Amino acid sequence: MITVIGSINMDLVVQMEVFPKQGETVLGNLFTTVPGGKGANQAVAAARLGSQVKMLGAVGSDSFGTELRANLNEENINTSLVMNTNGATGIANILLYESDNRIVVVPGANSKVTPEVIASAKTVIENSQLVVMQLEIPVETIEYSLKLCKELQVPVLFNPAPAANFDIEWMPYIKYLTPNETECALLFENDVEAALEKYPNQLIVTLGDNGARYFDGEKHVHVKGYKTIAVDTTGAGDTFNGAFAHAVTNGQSIEEAVFFANIAASLSVEKFGAQGGMPKLEEVVARKE
Ligand code: ATP
Repeated sequence: MITVIGSINMDLVVQMEVFPKQGETVLGNLFTTVPGGKGANQAVAAARLGSQVKMLGAVGSDSFGTELRANLNEENINTSLVMNTNGATGIANILLYESDNRIVVVPGANSKVTPEVIASAKTVIENSQLVVMQLEIPVETIEYSLKLCKELQVPVLFNPAPAANFDIEWMPYIKYLTPNETECALLFENDVEAALEKYPNQLIVTLGDNGARYFDGEKHVHVKGYKTIAVDTTGAGDTFNGAFAHAVTNGQSIEEAVFFANIAASLSVEKFGAQGGMPKLEEVVARKE
């Protein structure tokens, strides 16, 4: 069983032909609401591949909260540890203009995932094969969760996004750290090679359509990406993480898990939306062969 401790958001996507200038109002072309949040996305990616997944997080008392919980349940994700809180559910307001975008995230209920909430879920965490985390809930909760997982000897897959809040002191608490290239450069002051060698089999850097790389203690391993025509790369990283979690909890080696995750993420970029393109196991298996 995989437990995801993280954010649950509704993405409010507005497509337009021009961005409004300061003080200006423009007409948009299309408005859609799509389930998102890195925590929820990674939970969906793992569950769609057949993993048993529990989500630990919070939604608000508005209709988005009800919708997002239903969405997770439809994906066979256990939401008994998703709290209902008073106030607004987390949202990301995404303005899209051609390939450019502007995003405002309002954490809402995600900021109410406190260390006390995690402490009350100790038994679930203890019975998890892997805990998956990102950086969209309060930093003190992340720190508490990492320490609790260490104490309970439960491995952690940590996707350091958004990277600004990551603390390098957390490395001893993390089994796998999966930044993209930009995040990795930020976390390790641009010395990616040295970081890879310092954290063998622990630091796995994703490289967009180039796949991902890590250092196995003796040599650098580059697992090439699966070349495809990308329609929308939103959620590629989340699919990679959910799929990697699925693979390692099913006994795959790091190299096999990265290969599996590359294939899963390549399928996800062929469709629109973060969760929209996340594949089922049979699609990944078919592409692997
Ligand atoms: P995003 O923010 O777009 O969700 P990310 O920046 O967190 O993603 P990336 O390194 O861009 O992370 O991509 C994660 C993984 O997704 C890659 O390791 C690769 O497996 C896959 N991937 C990303 N883009 C492509 C693409 N254009 N074609 C095939 N695979 C891709």
